[in-house]
Amino acid sequence: LDYKTQAWVQWCPGCGDFGILNSIYRAVSELGIDPENLAVVGGIGCSGRTTYYVKGSNFHALHGRAIPVATGVKLANPHLNVIVAGGDGDLMGIGGGHFVALGRRNLNITVLLFDNAVYGLTKGQAAPTLPAWVKTKALSMPNIHDNINPVLLAFAAGYTFIARGYAYHTQQLKELIKTAVRHRGAALVDILQPCPTYNNIMTNKWYEERIYYVDQEEGYDPIIRTPEEFQKKAPAIAAKLMEFGDRIPLGILYWNQTRESFEERLEKIMPGYMSAPPATRRIELEGKPFLHPFDIFKDRLV
Ligand code: SF4
Repeated sequence: LDYKTQAWVQWCPGCGDFGILNSIYRAVSELGIDPENLAVVGGIGCSGRTTYYVKGSNFHALHGRAIPVATGVKLANPHLNVIVAGGDGDLMGIGGGHFVALGRRNLNITVLLFDNAVYGLTKGQAAPTLPAWVKTKALSMPNIHDNINPVLLAFAAGYTFIARGYAYHTQQLKELIKTAVRHRGAALVDILQPCPTYNNIMTNKWYEERIYYVDQEEGYDPIIRTPEEFQKKAPAIAAKLMEFGDRIPLGILYWNQTRESFEERLEKIMPGYMSAPPATRRIELEGKPFLHPFDIFKDRLV
């Protein structure tokens, strides 16, 4: 299957976005997902352009609103594979509340966080993931805000799959995206990516000196197979998620296989939701709507 569109890819030379896009192509290809069953929803930022470069039923949403749009798409048709492509400013800043809400629901959506610590599209302002006191070349003074930790926030919010990848390591990133898409529940892949145009501090060299893969070291098990296991492993997992400095862990950091997804909860209160979701139900006749939106559910609530 060919997932490339005819759109001209408009990113700066050397941008980490290219590696992420390449990893998405390879992941959906190896998963055998038909573009008809794929929806990529983006927000505003360099990352949002991904929606034009991957074949699918895509949507380029408003700033910060990729997750609510993706939520609507997924609820209307839970059989679609829904991927959110958003930047750190988009998902951790203006869209931060939506990011948290997705974890609470554990809806089966994959969030790819393009994490370069700057607002690249608007000339390099400090984004929520830029550490305090870092002064990139686009800033007149050092950043005086502390940074958000996306993977720890996702853990607190209830995401059931949390991983971190690196944009230039496309082989490993592709595998993380595949596992995230296959996971049934809210999944986050925090993707560290150099922005060579505006972030002259967190460069490829800066990352390569710090990153390591958790599965190449003994003793860390991120998988929760039973509810009791969560109590035992949560402190070690939280400690790993907090690690960001001289050493930055990559790979699957947390994978809870016990919690039911939002679709499974919906099926419990609306038997038949999965077999006849709203997107497959007739709502018009000869161009005229004959169904009030509430009527779609009225005979399905138990
Ligand atoms: Fe990539 Fe930065 Fe250029 Fe945006 S501004 S395309 S993130 S290098």
